Amino acid sequence: MTFRFCPLCATTLAPVEQAEDGGLKTRLRCTACDFTHWNNPTPVLAAVVECVDRGGRLLLARNAAWTSRMFALITGFMEAGETPQEGVAREVTEETGLTVDTVSLIGVYDFQRMNQVIIAYHARTHGEIVLSPELAEYKLFPPQDVRCWPAGTGYALADWLRAQGHQPQFIDMARRP
Ligand SMILES: [Zn+2]
Repeated sequence: MTFRFCPLCATTLAPVEQAEDGGLKTRLRCTACDFTHWNNPTPVLAAVVECVDRGGRLLLARNAAWTSRMFALITGFMEAGETPQEGVAREVTEETGLTVDTVSLIGVYDFQRMNQVIIAYHARTHGEIVLSPELAEYKLFPPQDVRCWPAGTGYALADWLRAQGHQPQFIDMARRP
């Protein structure tokens, strides 16, 4: 997804080279006003959801829009007017129905393919699981049984596993059909 028109004056945007602090840079700019489409990465919140009342198993979920059988972390966009900690707790509750007891930062990861920056938390949760319509199904895994994927949130999961004393196992994406 990219911008085609200036959001300020509706002129068609064009790639224009211009001097910036870092030197000459070509970006989509408006030729009528001073608007520049910076295309900064979007912050996405992600949670390794631990169900403390289910033996510490991890909840991974499959997005209803996905055709693959991948189960992944709970993720969502950060919203205006909330801290990342509030945002990740909100996403976990909205998407799973779980009550979030605590959140702690795992790390920050790039996901350049989607122009996102992932802020990943460990969320300790309890309660009844009620999935939002966005999610098709969930699975509960003992931490040592999960497989990580070699991209943004998968690296977050791997880092969390290592911190818990588990050796992360990665899915070989090249072998997936
Ligand atoms: Zn403009």
